[in-house]
Amino acid sequence: MVSRRGFLQGISALSVLDIVRPALPAEALSANDLSEVPGNYPDSKTGQSQLAFGNSLVRVRISGSETNFWSLENHKTGNVYRFGGPVFPLDGEAVSAIVENVQADRAPELLRNGATEHSFRGTLAARPSLSLRMIFRIGPDNAVVRFRYSLENNAADAITFKEAETPLTYISGSLARMSRVREVQLSDFNSMLHSDTVSKRDVWPQLFADQVGVAGPILVGEGADNEALLLAYEHGSQMPDTFLRFDLDTSRTTRLVAVKGNYIPGQTIKTFDTVWMVAAVAPTDAIASQFRTFVRKYMELNGESRRPYLFFNTWNFQERNKWWNKKSYLADYNQDRILQEIDIAHRLGLEIFVMDTGWYVKTGDWEVNRQRFPDGLKTVKARLDQYGMKLGLWFNPTMAAVSSQALAAHRSCIFSWQGKLAEPGDIWGSEASHPMCLVSEYADAYADTVIRVARDTGARYFIWDAVSQYGCDSSNHWHGTSANSEEERADSYAFQLPLQLIYIVEKVKRAYPDVIFDFDITETGRAVGLSFLSAGRFFLINNGPYLADYDLPHIEGAQNDNLFFYPGPARTWICREPLTYDEWVPSNLFLTHYFPDDPRSSQMVNIASLILGQNGIWGDLPNVSDAGVEWIGQVLNRYKQVRQDVAESDPIVSGNTAGVYEVREKISAASNRGLVSLFSSTNEKVVYVTLHTPERAFWATKGTRVRFDSQGHAVIESDMEFGAALVFFGVAKLT
Ligand SMILES: [Zn+2]
Repeated sequence: MVSRRGFLQGISALSVLDIVRPALPAEALSANDLSEVPGNYPDSKTGQSQLAFGNSLVRVRISGSETNFWSLENHKTGNVYRFGGPVFPLDGEAVSAIVENVQADRAPELLRNGATEHSFRGTLAARPSLSLRMIFRIGPDNAVVRFRYSLENNAADAITFKEAETPLTYISGSLARMSRVREVQLSDFNSMLHSDTVSKRDVWPQLFADQVGVAGPILVGEGADNEALLLAYEHGSQMPDTFLRFDLDTSRTTRLVAVKGNYIPGQTIKTFDTVWMVAAVAPTDAIASQFRTFVRKYMELNGESRRPYLFFNTWNFQERNKWWNKKSYLADYNQDRILQEIDIAHRLGLEIFVMDTGWYVKTGDWEVNRQRFPDGLKTVKARLDQYGMKLGLWFNPTMAAVSSQALAAHRSCIFSWQGKLAEPGDIWGSEASHPMCLVSEYADAYADTVIRVARDTGARYFIWDAVSQYGCDSSNHWHGTSANSEEERADSYAFQLPLQLIYIVEKVKRAYPDVIFDFDITETGRAVGLSFLSAGRFFLINNGPYLADYDLPHIEGAQNDNLFFYPGPARTWICREPLTYDEWVPSNLFLTHYFPDDPRSSQMVNIASLILGQNGIWGDLPNVSDAGVEWIGQVLNRYKQVRQDVAESDPIVSGNTAGVYEVREKISAASNRGLVSLFSSTNEKVVYVTLHTPERAFWATKGTRVRFDSQGHAVIESDMEFGAALVFFGVAKLT
């Protein structure tokens, strides 16, 4: 049975991949070219070969052979890394994509983010009715190559994916000359923090010997000459549940293979698109920085999600209102209160004002609640416009209320699990709602709704809450049919979900290119990885651990269940610890909110933390003192002078989170501007010498002195009266 939609067809539709250009005349590479002397490649600019491209750091050569499908050369060392091509399980047979007559099938295209896209196509030697398109993207000044393949059917007969002896393989490569191999996981949910974290592991030689695979999604091999090779893939899940894996074998070769859900067994399709993958070669001590720059500049097309804006979210006050003021989550959710919060958020220097759950009448239709906001959100939007601020809105995209038009039009898209349709459930006191499947036609309906909300309210930021990786095993959607098992359908749903989220974001971006989407990963069981970062960002931490995470008793209804819900330094320890992401992925892609509450000691440690990139504030703004609002506003307005430099900076960390000394230097190696945040859990005096040689114009918090040594490094001495201090470099001095 042919499904209603080609597998992942929506994903390929989202980008520029489908632009059809006339094929360029291009010469196929002969096998002899594979052993070409490093650096002796034909210059693509001269038109001698369309099968090579690169930049000042690396060069890619396309071949299409089994063991040298394409190669990556480091200009500096002359070393060439050859990769094996994909292997597809077609009709029960493992078909290696040995590709003949490879040609550039259109001219290189400059993308909006400054990267260039190269597209090649060739015919599968084993199945001439099939062709493989190979898409590569590379930035002008970055060692990372982003790529994906599409298997396309040229003949009338369709392709049927069916398990073969060899699993679906995306890429392979030898790590034989690498003396050390490391795995970087991005979705290690840590109960101590109640947050996802980075987890780095050595891939011991014995793992190759025992053929034990690793999940990644980043694998780094470190060789001689201070040279590292990085391979990664863009998907999302939480450890140890993984959909792709780097298999290892005794010859120290790694193969990126499908674990489950990557295709629907027995499904007949026209086109199969792989996930995006990443390869890079760079000095070992620069590989993380190169990857981080790729994520910041070249992974996403529009750039708006990469700008280090300052955010406010209404949620924490809603919680305080319930647990501290003994009201309800929505008790004071009205226009007067929101306008009051906007006025103060503006004085604090915040730029994106996010209205959490409560702004709508019912899920699914997502109309503004006019009992709370009589003119829709017109007055709210006008006040934000007056301050140059943006409006953000909360959604649970998988819910449609029982009486909603969205449900009436898409009843067939209700979640189904083991033969039973999902019952409606409570959504924060609004009308009961059915869970809806986003791996169905509901994805388009929901995207259209967001576009309508963006048009009607002017909102340009959206946060998605409560989207779990699993939930639907229906045979009537786009993740399998009655010919598949429930498990296959559930896994296909879970595999496709993070890619469908990207599809929705991209569809909204085509209507409103400046939108930003955050995906809430504050609970476990969500799709965390590189894929969503290609479209948006993550909302990392809500309140951190619950009482139960620390084996503490909780009396239901008597108190809120969160440990790190209060002002002071403790919450900041929890929130700063996952800044370890900043080595690989800029911290400003992990929104986390800090508290503005008095006294100054709490404000100092919270503001010195948030400017490290997580950039969020929430809380009861009208209860912050005028002096506190003014001080935070002053600090954040100085931060804005250097925030782009901070976003560009690789993190330098001295000491441990919440230790006696914890210093975080974020100074751009390019501009020498940035900041240093200093913390001491015991208020000990701190002396810190910067690694960089920053600009000399600085601003420091009270009790902090800065001088410059003969080499230009800043020597910072702080009394640390409040347990934290900060210094901005490259800003105007206080007069
Ligand atoms: Zn479904």
